[in-house]
Amino acid sequence: MAKLPIVTIGDPVLEQKAVEVPKITKRITKLIDDMLETMYEANGIGLAAPQVGVSQRIIVLDVGEGPVVLVNPVIASATGEDIDVEGCLSIPERWVYVKRASQVVITGLNEKGKAVRLEADGYFARALQHEIDHLEGVLMLDRMLAEAQVEEGESPSEEGAGE
Ligand code: ZN
Repeated sequence: MAKLPIVTIGDPVLEQKAVEVPKITKRITKLIDDMLETMYEANGIGLAAPQVGVSQRIIVLDVGEGPVVLVNPVIASATGEDIDVEGCLSIPERWVYVKRASQVVITGLNEKGKAVRLEADGYFARALQHEIDHLEGVLMLDRMLAEAQVEEGESPSEEGAGE
């Protein structure tokens, strides 16, 4: 595994719509492993492939319950609403309030290419929507309601604020 450089706001790859992964090849498996390592090293709870400069539909997450990998994820249903604070590894030092659905059902493939269906709520649902937005070229700043003030050393992404 290798840690990859995380691209930051201003890089055009973050504004592109990512393409579907046609097949889980060795290269994709390696990319997924590297994305997980990169996310953990950065203390993030989620990472989308465009954030490492790859415009393909892959996201990885870990909100404290172990790694989750989704290839070609689709939001099958989104219900309720919830406003909470988000950060983004591609937008360092900024925390913003974003309104999201409070419950989502996501379909897609896992890292082995098997079809999966995932029900999520709370901060996990929020993180999934944030990462899937990255695949559409949408950033949290496009959806922000207001800036949030976060005390130094008190990262909501690490604490799962609002869960
Ligand atoms: Zn992000």
